[in-house]
Amino acid sequence: MGARVPSRGGAPRVMTPEHRCGGSGGPLIRLADVAPDQKRPTTNADVWLVEGGANALYSDESPICAECWMAYLAPIDKWSRSLGDPARFKAPLSREIREFPVPERNRPSVVYNQMYGAGAVTESVGFWCQRDESFTQALQDYALANNLTLDLEPGPPGKKDQLLVSASYTRRV
Ligand SMILES: [Zn+2]
Repeated sequence: MGARVPSRGGAPRVMTPEHRCGGSGGPLIRLADVAPDQKRPTTNADVWLVEGGANALYSDESPICAECWMAYLAPIDKWSRSLGDPARFKAPLSREIREFPVPERNRPSVVYNQMYGAGAVTESVGFWCQRDESFTQALQDYALANNLTLDLEPGPPGKKDQLLVSASYTRRV
């Protein structure tokens, strides 16, 4: 049996199916019990969004790992962590994602994600950038050479000069 965590005014609640982090195997705590100074700005930007507010797919009861800060995303049964800094993941990102070309100018908007589940880890990088044919070509060349899935989505009306770039890479663990 794993750790049981008392819920407010009710019976003890079992935290997760496995009771250990699906990424590192570390001990779990409830999101609600994470100290305020650990939440912002980027312990896990998938849970505590950088630009205010929390991700509605998580709740106070969602388990998060006290060791690597991956959080359990119940709707898809996976463990997820997002960060702006690719060097801060406990398990290093794959070279394919770490070295993906990003525009130097809007570096702060770049978000990296690591997701564990079902015997695989999927890592991704995403950002908005100015449309630029030579940069787009460089991204496509890199994705092809490194076996990445690349998604290039044009901006909404009024922002057609923008492009939403996301690239992902999945490997078995
Ligand atoms: Zn962990």
